[in-house]
Amino acid sequence: MHIALIAHDRKKDDLVNFVDEHKKLFAGHRLIATGTTGKRIMERTGLKVHRLMSGPLGGDQQMGSLVAKGRLDLVIFLRDPLTPQPHEPDINALLRICDVHNVPAATNLATASIFLQYLKTRLS
Ligand code: PGA
Repeated sequence: MHIALIAHDRKKDDLVNFVDEHKKLFAGHRLIATGTTGKRIMERTGLKVHRLMSGPLGGDQQMGSLVAKGRLDLVIFLRDPLTPQPHEPDINALLRICDVHNVPAATNLATASIFLQYLKTRLS
């Protein structure tokens, strides 16, 4: 599976810890992340991550383009619901395009955990 990973600044620790915790599972998939999120994940886990631009500089739009082209199977996007972001339109556009193409998108760790359960059942 091709899995997208994105986290806003205040959510990056959560996502990095989550990927690290489930490193074995993530290792069996192709990981694509926005710039800083990808860097943080690689540094912590040693997993290979294909990095796009940073979110506010166009990374969310690049991710949306991959969704539109059918290149992503699953999106984990830990957005910060309590802090206004300069690239709010890009965030909405990414989640919108996931809905257009029926690509599962998790915006919190509870949903992301359910996705992982699903991935496990696919492997067994
Ligand atoms: P980043 O982008 O991983 O480069 O920080 C994510 C975002 O903040 O949208």
